[in-house]
Amino acid sequence: MPEPIGIFALQGDFEKHKIAVEKLGHDAVLVKNPETLNKCCKLIVPGGESTTFLKLLDKLKMREPLLDFSKDRAVMGTCAGLIILASNVLDYELQPLKLIDITVQRNAYGRQIDSFVDTVTLEIKNEKIDFQGVFIRAPKIIALGTGVCKLADYNGDVVMAAAKNILVATFHPELTNDLTIHDYFINKF
Ligand code: GLN
Repeated sequence: MPEPIGIFALQGDFEKHKIAVEKLGHDAVLVKNPETLNKCCKLIVPGGESTTFLKLLDKLKMREPLLDFSKDRAVMGTCAGLIILASNVLDYELQPLKLIDITVQRNAYGRQIDSFVDTVTLEIKNEKIDFQGVFIRAPKIIALGTGVCKLADYNGDVVMAAAKNILVATFHPELTNDLTIHDYFINKF
């Protein structure tokens, strides 16, 4: 029995990620404690609200277990999940996990009312693939550090990137029916 994909479920849009993983034929478990986390082979950190998420992470003493997990297993962060995994978040008083060397600006496209859906171009598996990006109070990646590669572009902004075992996207891939990004993370990353 292969190990399940964990969906970090302290806060945010975890249910839709679980459905996407299950549609691909994999087991998915909602992770709320270190014991469940350590049964997983990969982890998705969903979008939601990064400040609430980071505060809960520390309150529930999940920071160290998550840092340990990410030493040898893959983690994907989407939207707020990207903010949580970043090395540097502009004008932010909380400490993100610093698992991928990117500088991020929160709410960079404006407020909730400025949320939008538009086509982004994925550059994965040596192919260019159009994908409907759902941007909800989305962050922007302002700078990529060494070892971080671009995996998707939107109007000249990097909106998906990866380094070693960490994959991040500024949009919500779980809010479309297109499983390309989940498939890439689970089966090819
Ligand atoms: N604006 C949110 C934050 O800064 C992220 C929004 C989202 O995940 N859709 O945490």
